[in-house]
Amino acid sequence: MHELSMADAIVKTVIEAAEKNEAIEVLEVTVELGQMTLLNPEQLKFMLEVLSEDTIVNGAKFNMEEIPIEIECFSCGFKGKANTDELDHYVPVINCPECEERNLNITAGRECNVKNIKIEKSDEDAQDS
Ligand SMILES: [Zn+2]
Repeated sequence: MHELSMADAIVKTVIEAAEKNEAIEVLEVTVELGQMTLLNPEQLKFMLEVLSEDTIVNGAKFNMEEIPIEIECFSCGFKGKANTDELDHYVPVINCPECEERNLNITAGRECNVKNIKIEKSDEDAQDS
């Protein structure tokens, strides 16, 4: 399952960052999720919560930040958000909203990153890392 392997990678990244910063607790994790990845944010969030049990990440709040697909059209020069109304769980077919050509470059929407982690340190107040 796509979401599961992604959730696993994210939890590992968070644990690594938490250990590097000598955290005693992870309070909040913000994940950037591009629409191009076709990952279901709710499912991913659920799996993150399950996988973080018994780790330092247990009890952290996961914020899912969806990144819309943006394109740059080679035919008419349009730059901006793609029309993704019909985008569900199928491989996205993206056309330029201006000229409907498919001769384009996808400039945003492939992200699946840990954007931000908020941790609690033993001798300091919580801070962003
Ligand atoms: Zn175009």
